[in-house]
Amino acid sequence: MTAAQFEKELAELEKFASDAFASAGDSQSLEDMRLEYLGQKGKLTLILRGLSGLDKSERPRIGQLANTVKEKIQVLHDQRKEALYREQLAERLKVDRLDVTLPALGRPLGHLHPLTLITEEIARIFYGMGFSVFEGPEVETDYYNFDALNTPASHPARDEQDTFYTNLGPQVLLRSQTSTAQIRYMEKKENKPPLRIIAPGRVYRNEEINARKYPLFHQVEGLLVDKEVTMGQLRATLAEFLRLLFGKPLRTRFRPDFFPFTEPSAELDSECPFCAGSGCRTCGHRGWLELLGCGMVDPNVLRAVDIDPEEWSGFAFGMGVERLAMIKYGVT
Ligand SMILES: [Zn+2]
Repeated sequence: MTAAQFEKELAELEKFASDAFASAGDSQSLEDMRLEYLGQKGKLTLILRGLSGLDKSERPRIGQLANTVKEKIQVLHDQRKEALYREQLAERLKVDRLDVTLPALGRPLGHLHPLTLITEEIARIFYGMGFSVFEGPEVETDYYNFDALNTPASHPARDEQDTFYTNLGPQVLLRSQTSTAQIRYMEKKENKPPLRIIAPGRVYRNEEINARKYPLFHQVEGLLVDKEVTMGQLRATLAEFLRLLFGKPLRTRFRPDFFPFTEPSAELDSECPFCAGSGCRTCGHRGWLELLGCGMVDPNVLRAVDIDPEEWSGFAFGMGVERLAMIKYGVT
């Protein structure tokens, strides 16, 4: 072969390799082609074998030309390899449709039950007024549920409350009111007046089940015993509680009521926080909401726990947590 023939063959080799690489559809066929042109038994090697027959003066120039062509073919291969990689990546992204720049889906989180939320808020408000939280047992005896709360066996209030008795004993029952906690707390020798507690918890009554009633519900009991406690202090305390619970001052009123363990007893109404007293669905268009029962602690209750009613007096209140939650959170 002459030098001119070598030059022609090398130029053709570069052209064929370029066309072949462009037609390669995947990295494996591209690699096959690379071996076909640049491999130990490849086309370039075959051409170079003929160099020995070339005139010595021409060999270095043609040898250098062969090296240049080899490098060019290698570059063409590398470029095609890179392009194939990008094509495959784009294809895969299309199939996977995984866009890592998208914001992550929110993980659904639970939240506290409205009854838990409002009980915590009630406790927080009274805590701010110097009350501490006390919890009595749910399984009680009729002494704590009735007798010590000035409700003897013959008392009519005892029949009114449809109480769940257990088979643990004739006196063992599920408490029908959190007022039991008053006795549980005050009977302890270390809890002598002055004292302020609230007692949140579950209570049980044999109620018909409907949208407004359930045999298990929640109350918060409150008790304050100190010297010369007045109805005015009771009303001011409850008005402040309602202001903090509903976020604004509300007018209140007492209506006479009856509970065996308070004397006098009252029902506390508040101005409806939603219509400011003008009447709406929540208040049944009355402008007032019946919120809780309260009164001055009956001297007999203090006597039952060895507190002298001549020296000490107190007030107590009890509220239905479900009702307050319904009003505050607008549950209809
Ligand atoms: Zn209203």
